[in-house]
Amino acid sequence: MRLTGKVAVITGAGSGMGEETAKLFAREGATVVATDINFEAVTRVVEMIRSNGGEAIALQHDVTSRNDWENIYNEVQSVCGKLDVLVNNAGIALAKPFLDQTEEDWARTYRINIDGVMLGTQYAIPLMEQNGGGSIVNISSISALTGMAGAGAYTASKGAVRSLTKAAAVDYGKHNIRVNSVHPGYIVTPMSAPHMEHPDYKQHFLNQIALPNLGRAEEVATAVLFLASDEANHITGIELPVDGGVTAK
Ligand code: NAP
Repeated sequence: MRLTGKVAVITGAGSGMGEETAKLFAREGATVVATDINFEAVTRVVEMIRSNGGEAIALQHDVTSRNDWENIYNEVQSVCGKLDVLVNNAGIALAKPFLDQTEEDWARTYRINIDGVMLGTQYAIPLMEQNGGGSIVNISSISALTGMAGAGAYTASKGAVRSLTKAAAVDYGKHNIRVNSVHPGYIVTPMSAPHMEHPDYKQHFLNQIALPNLGRAEEVATAVLFLASDEANHITGIELPVDGGVTAK
């Protein structure tokens, strides 16, 4: 098992990639602290993990709230005693033409997609320093690498995640804290399925991918696992696309 003895916090773990990452990490021996704004959803995920013999706890968590992060920090310290891995996965996607975006659209997207990552990083680093190091994996998007039509705020916020990742990697590398970003392409999840699996649009997405299929949440989770694990001990500050070759085209 690749995460035996490690404690991992995963945000947005009630659905999609966060859910699959939580399940995979538990199968690989981690104690998973699964958090989500949707407590019912993340409780369901944790019950599944436990029924399969894994260790996990579910916590209600809005990533934009400093108070909530403080609670997570206290809970991790008191219940688990340490933190090895943080996966900043929670995010929202607002598909709206640039000129139609309001300041509130922009601010909400930024609050969740980048402020949430900043807060998580601020709370994780002191815990990881106490522990002699750790790994932070930030879920960005291929939109941070290529630009994405019709999603200006989302694209900009995910670009900020990419840059924050590199800044934190450089600042905390000497503390043995690795910080990397994963850039999913077209992955079928509850967030994306209404567009990606819609008969009118599916072929449009498939045309952009070099491989034959849309991505699956499990396929992103395995990349996150690699970066979280000791196998990636000399890897920090990278951006790893999991996109079936979209950005290679
Ligand atoms: P998803 O299925 O919608 O899961 C995201 C989870 O985060 C949901 O449970 C959601 O709860 C939760 N969440 C939303 N706002 C939150 C907040 N403020 N605090 C805590 N949790 C919150 O999405 P996904 O497709 O797995 O996406 C996961 C990440 O990958 C996101 O950062 C997304 O931007 C990124 N991504 C996705 C794709 C794709 O193709 N799917 C591609 C590139 C990048 P609710 O359901 O209640 O809102």
